[in-house]
Amino acid sequence: MRRDPSAARAVGLVALVVTVLLGTAYALGRSLVPDPPASSVTTSATGPHYADQPPADDSSRQGTPGGDRSPAPAEAGQDGGVDPSGTPGATGTAGPFGAQTTSGTSLVALTFDDGPDPQYTPQVLALLRRHQVRATFCVVGENAQNHPDLIQAIVADGHTLCNHSWNHDVNLGRRSPEVIRADLLRTSAAIRAAVPGAPIAYYRQPGGAWTGPVVSVARELGMTPLHWTVDPSDWSAPGAGRIATMVVTNVEPGSVVLLHDAGGDRQGTVDALYRILPSLTSRFQVEALPDGGT
Ligand SMILES: [Zn+2]
Repeated sequence: MRRDPSAARAVGLVALVVTVLLGTAYALGRSLVPDPPASSVTTSATGPHYADQPPADDSSRQGTPGGDRSPAPAEAGQDGGVDPSGTPGATGTAGPFGAQTTSGTSLVALTFDDGPDPQYTPQVLALLRRHQVRATFCVVGENAQNHPDLIQAIVADGHTLCNHSWNHDVNLGRRSPEVIRADLLRTSAAIRAAVPGAPIAYYRQPGGAWTGPVVSVARELGMTPLHWTVDPSDWSAPGAGRIATMVVTNVEPGSVVLLHDAGGDRQGTVDALYRILPSLTSRFQVEALPDGGT
């Protein structure tokens, strides 16, 4: 019995139609299912959020990914050592443009940037309280203005305040001294509106993009320019495990640890604290940076 060629053609045609229909259905199905977020990594360069990844021209992210202990060794004056005298700006504590990179003592300092944030800052505060750890919060002016209650909670728990510019302008250091001064003053005013009289002893430049003028203006306004020693890149949301491992394996006496309680999805950072806090407190004295207040 020979197969009818026309029947074979018909079968082929049906197969083709089925294939096309399936393809259409697949495409339709995809269009009906909402796409997952483009990436689990918050790309703060394009998003509305900000974080302290240095700008492209900053050298502190060069080197081994994940193993970075910024600032890069190439930074002038940064040799990774801790000056036992603890003199800010002295060799060993001097970071980019003289910004302080270590606590200057054996104390380990946790710093939380970009907040306050109504979702994450309360979680961070609760965990710090549970482990009786005081930290340093580098807050953004507009967030301080929007969440004065959180600024009050930070101060009520005995943490140190740090000015982190009005709206996280990573290019602030390139602006005129007058613009820089106005930005820092506006930020400090927003903080003080929430907590009148509270000391704001530090300034941290967004992105770690320090310049001579921004360091000078911060000092002029009575704030110590504060960089960091250990950066687990939590702004890129690498997951709680990686954040925690980076911190617990790289911290040494005098380390200033850069973390974020705002500026994107920070649940990984919050979750990492469940490991970071017991580990660090068992090995080091973890404290807020001194705010010079009484
Ligand atoms: Zn920041």
